[in-house]
Amino acid sequence: PPLALRDQSLLRESAYVAGAWTQGEARFAVKNPATGALIGHVPLLGAAETRHAIESAAAAFADWRKRSGRERGALLLRWRDLILENTEDLAWIMTTEQGKPLAEARGEVGYAASFLEWFAEEAKRVYGETVPSPLSDRRLIVSREPIGVCAAITPWNFPLAMITRKAGPALAVGCPMIVKPAEATPFSALALAVLAERAGIPGGVFQVVTGDPRAIGGELTSNPTVRKLSFTGSTQTGKLLYAQCAPTVKKLSLELGGNAPYIVFDDADLDAAVTGAIASKFRNSGQTCVCANRFYVQDKIYDAFAEKFAQAVNKLVVGEGFAPGVTQGPLINAAAIARVTAHVADAVEKGGRILTGGAPHPAGANFFAPTVIADAKADMRVAKEEIFGPVAPVFRFSDEAEVIRLANDTEYGLAAYFFARDLARVWRVAEALEYGMVAINTGAFSNEVAPFGGVKQSGFGREGSRLGVDEYLVVKMLAMAGL
Ligand code: ADP
Repeated sequence: PPLALRDQSLLRESAYVAGAWTQGEARFAVKNPATGALIGHVPLLGAAETRHAIESAAAAFADWRKRSGRERGALLLRWRDLILENTEDLAWIMTTEQGKPLAEARGEVGYAASFLEWFAEEAKRVYGETVPSPLSDRRLIVSREPIGVCAAITPWNFPLAMITRKAGPALAVGCPMIVKPAEATPFSALALAVLAERAGIPGGVFQVVTGDPRAIGGELTSNPTVRKLSFTGSTQTGKLLYAQCAPTVKKLSLELGGNAPYIVFDDADLDAAVTGAIASKFRNSGQTCVCANRFYVQDKIYDAFAEKFAQAVNKLVVGEGFAPGVTQGPLINAAAIARVTAHVADAVEKGGRILTGGAPHPAGANFFAPTVIADAKADMRVAKEEIFGPVAPVFRFSDEAEVIRLANDTEYGLAAYFFARDLARVWRVAEALEYGMVAINTGAFSNEVAPFGGVKQSGFGREGSRLGVDEYLVVKMLAMAGL
């Protein structure tokens, strides 16, 4: 990579457990997905170290919960400031281990910091309520308390933001948080821990345990001291963790896969729909859980949209994330390339017409050419499965009721998009879509002030927004009698 790290101490090859940097005995390698080059090694920790982290968190909880929201918020704001001051280094680490273009990585640093700012402010607003009692000698008071030791298992596609939007609310309301980052992107998580330590956040309050997902996940889910697990990742792993949390009845937030419809009605602003399609489908090379998965375009404008969309896709620049002008980095690994290749082959076999792309890209082993497939059909794999790559199947539809039925015909319910201008249609469609988030006339909607989350098998719980703290709180009712 052309940039040098300004502060070498941000690239840590050790995990952060109980306020100490630990090397571990076994270690695993982390590689740059664009080049295959070795970045470094991190500890391969397991159940024993995770138990140690949980004990440390439980000990830290006693003091942390007693501090005022304002005091915790002030520490979160210092952490936020340090993250922003180190934007270039954090972006460098992210692009190196995750592959996304440097401009997107910088954007994610700001996005990650925004959650700490938001929840630092919310720390002061964990309000309760009083309830008028039916008995005149009683008073009823409802307060909200921190749930206890929390754990987060996070994915590689947003290596910083998926951590701060879980740790931010947990810490703000008084809970310690243990993070197990994805194997592909531990260095971003560890850099966050360096900055948390520098900000003065106590060691047991924020910890990062790298290593074996099954061993660490097994301990985090079975240990009764952990009261809450927040997971972002695949539906398959989410279901497993849900089951593993049942015996100890943990509170859960699950942010799982999606199969986002992106509907373009014939009264839409076509150029806006194309711009939104690029933003929604090709951000992070198609590797976000809210990426458009199925494009449904109405008859009358189908050909015009497909042509303009393919032209816009042809302007995307594929390459290593550090190269100037690049908008499409690599996919995360060889398995991702294999999956996307199989999706395209299946679509072509069932009558799909490749308008652009359709094959791996010569930039390197993990690169795939941005692809548009016209004449997509409901029996294709791309209609049912999460693509998680730069492939856009475009389906044709004729009327509103039909497209609503198609859009909802999936076990997923995370994000949906549609473009239309008729006001009555906008309301009808918005209300009919069975999704946690509906974006109308835009391809981008995530920010720290709006509740992010899904319905159906895309999971439950909300991140960001004023609802975000609820995931880390429990309600206590005080009934005071004999007045
Ligand atoms: P992906 O297939 O996109 O990598 P995963 O759901 O497997 O998505 O990964 C998301 C996170 O879940 C990662 O941090 C990963 O290490 C973790 N993970 C995967 N399998 C397990 C498991 N059996 N137990 C606990 N964590 C797991």
